[in-house]
Amino acid sequence: MKHIKYPGHFFVVSAPSGAGKTSLVSTLIQQDPSIQVSVSHTTRTKRPGETDGQHYFFVSNKTFDAMIEADAFIEHANVFGNHYGTSRNTVLDLVNSGMDVVLEIDWQGAEQIRASWQESASLTSIFILPPNLESLVDRLKKRGQDDESTIEKRIANATIEIAHFNEFDYSIVNDNFEQATNELSEIISSVRRGEKPIPRDVRPLAAQLLSGHLD
Ligand code: 5GP
Repeated sequence: MKHIKYPGHFFVVSAPSGAGKTSLVSTLIQQDPSIQVSVSHTTRTKRPGETDGQHYFFVSNKTFDAMIEADAFIEHANVFGNHYGTSRNTVLDLVNSGMDVVLEIDWQGAEQIRASWQESASLTSIFILPPNLESLVDRLKKRGQDDESTIEKRIANATIEIAHFNEFDYSIVNDNFEQATNELSEIISSVRRGEKPIPRDVRPLAAQLLSGHLD
């Protein structure tokens, strides 16, 4: 993030697939016009209902590689065999319009952002956990966006993602959607007020999720 001078707040939100992160974040931005999500670039195939430039910028491997070469990403990672990245220009456009920015990225991207972050800018990272593994599997199946083998890959990768919850400033458990949205909104309001609320201790839940039992 060397070239970005940012007056507002940055929020990195990560979660295992199926924890409800995208729904939480879209509800949040509907309620709060001064926060925007940075639209990422990806090489994955567009799902039904997705729009280029709105959900992602869908690009070829060749374009993605050229963007890496041109140092166009502030972070990028391979997730489930596809490339995802946050473009510097996308973030700069949001920053320059005076917005607070949410990056919905995976733990690898969050790690890269933390490593290159300048202390002069405000960065808060938030991890979304499911209340149990069953709800995660249920959500993945019900949303009907992926085939069986992709769903299995996402379930297997969920524990890899969850294993990094501890690197985040805050964790939210998405058991009750409204409550989780309120918690997310409250963290953001506190950060804007310059406060640091005490993080919720989710270690017992994370340990249970990481034990991998579907009971
Ligand atoms: P999906 O394909 O379900 O939209 O996203 C799969 C994963 O890629 C999610 O964990 C999501 O957070 C992550 N992801 C989406 N955009 C980015 C990005 O720009 N950078 C990184 N590192 N991960 C991303």
